[in-house]
Amino acid sequence: MGKKMARPHKCRKVFSNPEVVHFKPAGVMMQELEEICLTLDEFEAIRLADYDRLYHEEAARKMNVSRQTFGNIINSAHRKIADFLINTKSLRINGGVVEMNESEDRHFICYDCKHKWGVAFGTTKPGKCPQCGSNNLHRLPAERGRNRLGKRTGNCIKEQ
Ligand SMILES: [Zn+2]
Repeated sequence: MGKKMARPHKCRKVFSNPEVVHFKPAGVMMQELEEICLTLDEFEAIRLADYDRLYHEEAARKMNVSRQTFGNIINSAHRKIADFLINTKSLRINGGVVEMNESEDRHFICYDCKHKWGVAFGTTKPGKCPQCGSNNLHRLPAERGRNRLGKRTGNCIKEQ
Protein backbone atom coordinates (compact mmCIF):
# COMPACT_ATOMS: atom_id res chain seq x y z
CA MET A 1 0.00 0.00 0.00
CA GLY A 2 1.33 3.38 -1.02
CA LYS A 3 4.71 1.93 -1.82
CA LYS A 4 6.31 3.26 -4.98
CA MET A 5 7.68 0.59 -7.27
CA ALA A 6 11.33 0.79 -8.30
CA ARG A 7 11.76 2.10 -11.80
CA PRO A 8 13.13 -0.36 -14.33
CA HIS A 9 16.06 1.01 -16.31
CA LYS A 10 14.83 0.00 -19.69
CA CYS A 11 11.76 1.31 -21.39
CA ARG A 12 9.29 -1.38 -22.33
CA LYS A 13 8.18 -1.20 -25.90
CA VAL A 14 4.48 -1.13 -26.53
CA PHE A 15 2.66 -1.25 -29.84
CA SER A 16 -0.83 -0.65 -28.65
CA ASN A 17 -2.64 2.14 -26.98
CA PRO A 18 -6.01 1.30 -25.45
CA GLU A 19 -9.02 3.11 -26.82
CA VAL A 20 -10.70 3.21 -23.43
CA VAL A 21 -8.60 4.03 -20.42
CA HIS A 22 -11.08 3.77 -17.59
CA PHE A 23 -13.48 0.97 -16.72
CA LYS A 24 -15.99 0.91 -13.90
CA PRO A 25 -18.87 -1.36 -12.93
CA ALA A 26 -22.25 0.05 -14.01
CA GLY A 27 -24.48 1.52 -11.33
CA VAL A 28 -21.81 2.18 -8.71
CA MET A 29 -20.76 5.69 -7.78
CA MET A 30 -17.20 6.47 -8.77
CA GLN A 31 -16.21 7.74 -5.35
CA GLU A 32 -17.29 4.47 -3.75
CA LEU A 33 -14.91 2.50 -5.90
CA GLU A 34 -11.30 1.74 -5.19
CA GLU A 35 -9.26 2.32 -8.32
CA ILE A 36 -6.79 -0.17 -9.73
CA CYS A 37 -4.13 1.14 -12.07
CA LEU A 38 -3.03 -1.11 -14.89
CA THR A 39 0.11 0.24 -16.51
CA LEU A 40 0.54 0.38 -20.28
CA ASP A 41 3.21 -2.30 -20.19
CA GLU A 42 0.84 -4.58 -18.27
CA PHE A 43 -1.89 -3.85 -20.81
CA GLU A 44 0.54 -4.67 -23.61
CA ALA A 45 1.56 -7.94 -21.93
CA ILE A 46 -2.10 -8.98 -21.76
CA ARG A 47 -2.59 -8.06 -25.39
CA LEU A 48 0.44 -10.02 -26.58
CA ALA A 49 0.15 -13.14 -24.42
CA ASP A 50 -3.57 -13.50 -23.73
CA TYR A 51 -5.15 -11.87 -26.76
CA ASP A 52 -2.62 -12.47 -29.54
CA ARG A 53 -1.64 -15.79 -27.88
CA LEU A 54 2.09 -15.29 -28.24
CA TYR A 55 4.55 -17.37 -26.27
CA HIS A 56 5.99 -15.39 -23.36
CA GLU A 57 9.44 -15.56 -24.90
CA GLU A 58 8.24 -13.93 -28.10
CA ALA A 59 6.13 -11.36 -26.28
CA ALA A 60 9.13 -10.47 -24.08
CA ARG A 61 11.24 -9.89 -27.16
CA LYS A 62 8.62 -7.57 -28.64
CA MET A 63 8.55 -5.54 -25.45
CA ASN A 64 12.34 -5.50 -25.16
CA VAL A 65 12.38 -7.15 -21.73
CA SER A 66 13.68 -10.47 -20.39
CA ARG A 67 11.43 -13.50 -20.27
CA GLN A 68 11.44 -13.27 -16.46
CA THR A 69 10.51 -9.59 -16.47
CA PHE A 70 7.69 -10.33 -18.87
CA GLY A 71 6.46 -13.02 -16.48
CA ASN A 72 6.43 -10.50 -13.65
CA ILE A 73 4.56 -7.94 -15.74
CA ILE A 74 1.86 -10.35 -16.82
CA ASN A 75 1.46 -11.86 -13.35
CA SER A 76 0.90 -8.40 -11.96
CA ALA A 77 -1.59 -7.63 -14.74
CA HIS A 78 -3.53 -10.84 -14.07
CA ARG A 79 -3.69 -10.09 -10.34
CA LYS A 80 -5.00 -6.60 -10.96
CA ILE A 81 -7.64 -7.73 -13.44
CA ALA A 82 -8.80 -10.47 -11.07
CA ASP A 83 -9.01 -7.93 -8.26
CA PHE A 84 -11.00 -5.59 -10.52
CA LEU A 85 -13.48 -8.31 -11.47
CA ILE A 86 -13.91 -9.99 -8.13
CA ASN A 87 -13.86 -7.05 -5.72
CA THR A 88 -15.89 -4.56 -7.81
CA LYS A 89 -13.30 -1.87 -8.30
CA SER A 90 -12.63 0.54 -11.12
CA LEU A 91 -9.71 0.00 -13.49
CA ARG A 92 -7.62 2.69 -15.08
CA ILE A 93 -4.99 2.06 -17.73
CA ASN A 94 -2.24 4.56 -17.26
CA GLY A 95 1.47 5.11 -16.83
CA GLY A 96 4.32 2.66 -16.82
CA VAL A 97 7.83 3.04 -18.15
CA VAL A 98 7.08 2.57 -21.81
CA GLU A 99 7.95 3.85 -25.23
CA MET A 100 5.85 3.59 -28.32
CA ASN A 101 7.47 1.38 -30.89
CA GLU A 102 7.92 3.59 -33.91
CA SER A 103 8.59 0.78 -36.31
CA GLU A 104 5.00 -0.40 -36.27
CA ASP A 105 3.28 2.82 -36.93
CA ARG A 106 0.54 2.51 -39.49
CA HIS A 107 -2.69 1.23 -38.04
CA PHE A 108 -5.65 -0.07 -39.96
CA ILE A 109 -9.19 -0.94 -39.06
CA CYS A 110 -11.53 -3.36 -40.79
CA TYR A 111 -14.98 -1.83 -41.01
CA ASP A 112 -16.60 -5.24 -41.28
CA CYS A 113 -15.28 -7.01 -38.16
CA LYS A 114 -13.71 -3.99 -36.38
CA HIS A 115 -10.34 -5.74 -36.16
CA LYS A 116 -7.45 -3.29 -35.73
CA TRP A 117 -3.80 -3.97 -36.39
CA GLY A 118 -0.49 -2.27 -37.02
CA VAL A 119 1.74 -2.53 -40.06
CA ALA A 120 5.41 -1.56 -40.17
CA PHE A 121 6.47 1.43 -42.20
CA GLY A 122 7.93 0.52 -45.55
CA THR A 123 5.54 -2.32 -46.24
CA THR A 124 2.64 -1.99 -48.63
CA LYS A 125 -0.89 -1.28 -47.47
CA PRO A 126 -2.61 -4.53 -46.54
CA GLY A 127 -5.09 -5.71 -49.18
CA LYS A 128 -7.44 -7.45 -46.82
CA CYS A 129 -8.26 -7.89 -43.16
CA PRO A 130 -6.08 -10.59 -41.54
CA GLN A 131 -9.03 -11.63 -39.40
CA CYS A 132 -12.04 -11.86 -41.74
CA GLY A 133 -10.56 -11.32 -45.22
CA SER A 134 -12.65 -8.24 -46.00
CA ASN A 135 -11.12 -5.45 -48.09
CA ASN A 136 -13.20 -2.76 -46.39
CA LEU A 137 -10.13 -1.29 -44.67
CA HIS A 138 -9.32 2.16 -43.45
CA ARG A 139 -6.20 3.65 -42.01
CA LEU A 140 -6.34 4.99 -38.47
CA PRO A 141 -4.58 8.26 -37.67
CA ALA A 142 -1.26 7.42 -36.00
CA GLU A 143 -0.57 10.72 -34.25
CA ARG A 144 -3.50 10.55 -31.89
CA GLY A 145 -2.29 7.48 -30.06
CA ARG A 146 1.23 8.72 -29.67
CA ASN A 147 0.19 12.05 -28.23
CA ARG A 148 -2.14 10.47 -25.76
CA LEU A 149 0.49 7.97 -24.74
CA GLY A 150 3.08 10.70 -24.23
CA LYS A 151 0.89 12.47 -21.73
CA ARG A 152 0.06 9.35 -19.82
CA THR A 153 3.45 7.75 -19.27
CA GLY A 154 5.28 7.57 -16.01
CA ASN A 155 2.62 8.98 -13.73
CA CYS A 156 1.02 5.91 -12.28
CA ILE A 157 2.22 5.57 -8.72
CA LYS A 158 -0.72 3.74 -7.22
CA GLU A 159 0.42 0.25 -6.31
CA GLN A 160 -1.48 -2.37 -4.46
ZN1 LIG B 1 -12.19 -7.91 -40.80
